[in-house]
Amino acid sequence: MSKILVVAEIEEQDVKKSSIEAICYGKQMNLGDVEVLIIGQVAAEHLNRLSNYGAQKVYQVAHNDTDYRDIQTYANIIAQVINQAGSDIVLMAKSSLTDAVAGRVAIKVEAELVTNVVELPLSTDPIKIKRSIYTGKAFEVVELTGAKKIITLRKSAVSIVENSGAGDVTIEAVEANTPDQKVSFVSKEKAEGDILLPEADIVVSGGRGLKGPENWGIVEDLAKTLGAATGCSKPVSDENWRPHHEHVGQTGVKVSPDLYIAIGISGAIQHLAGVNSSKTILVINKDPEAPFFKAADYGIVGDAFEVVPKLTSAIQA
Ligand code: FAD
Repeated sequence: MSKILVVAEIEEQDVKKSSIEAICYGKQMNLGDVEVLIIGQVAAEHLNRLSNYGAQKVYQVAHNDTDYRDIQTYANIIAQVINQAGSDIVLMAKSSLTDAVAGRVAIKVEAELVTNVVELPLSTDPIKIKRSIYTGKAFEVVELTGAKKIITLRKSAVSIVENSGAGDVTIEAVEANTPDQKVSFVSKEKAEGDILLPEADIVVSGGRGLKGPENWGIVEDLAKTLGAATGCSKPVSDENWRPHHEHVGQTGVKVSPDLYIAIGISGAIQHLAGVNSSKTILVINKDPEAPFFKAADYGIVGDAFEVVPKLTSAIQA
């Protein structure tokens, strides 16, 4: 029997959806108890709900939003709890935080580290697991044989399964050992947009085919209608038609939504590298030979300025 620890991230006093996926991943591995580490304040009802996803126990390091701003400190706390809990498999949803801490924790607890995992293990004895490589252009299968394993998960590696009424989780408060903090909190500014691009279930993205920033209303209307985040190709953000945090691709944000809608984007390999783990891709392009159609599940050949408003009206209706 393994002991699985999910390192959860929080946002506005709740556990992030990507971390809920990681808990479900741990449960669906079917290798042992699933425990969760939470660094921060989470409302009690949200903590108790974690049992519905398969968590048995929560280690909670309560702190204010402003306490820890230091990657070293996070890594120290995670290593401390892994040792305290005796965890042999550690799961983290891929994020800018876990990109920075996973390697540090692996060194501290002498674990092997596998990043960018895209689905449940192909086998569990030994664990063979598929990961995305070359900035999303290929996949490889690796075998994990070490005593301790740290696995970071791409979004949508498993579906969230909730069994309501599973009872309360056990909550254990942990006093964090945080020597030598070198970075302290100064201020926080939220990026524009209600839905964060890397975590969005639906992304509506526009390319140079939209001709200019003044035409982005059709992209925003469709995104608003679908509850989607907006993205764009690199030249669009280079031209300052859209903010840089919306740039999707090899050199921008990598997304894994349930649905990616590409409007007036040609489908260059560098753009595809950021979207090819999307579950479903819809391409709207007036050129039937646009390379994006080869990567698409659905395609509409047509002028975006005619197609997109009609699509938005049809969805609204
Ligand atoms: P274009 O290639 O100009 O394509 C516009 C598309 O819109 C065409 O397919 C056209 O048929 C279509 N269109 C035109 N008018 C309409 C209309 N009215 N209705 C519908 N369709 C229409 N790019 C990224 O996106 N992300 C990256 O991370 C990235 N990284 C890069 C890294 C490197 C090192 C390099 C060299 C390049 C990188 N690029 C990246 C750039 C990439 O190679 C392409 O140049 C870029 O993706 C093209 O953007 P686009 O599809 O918006 O524009």
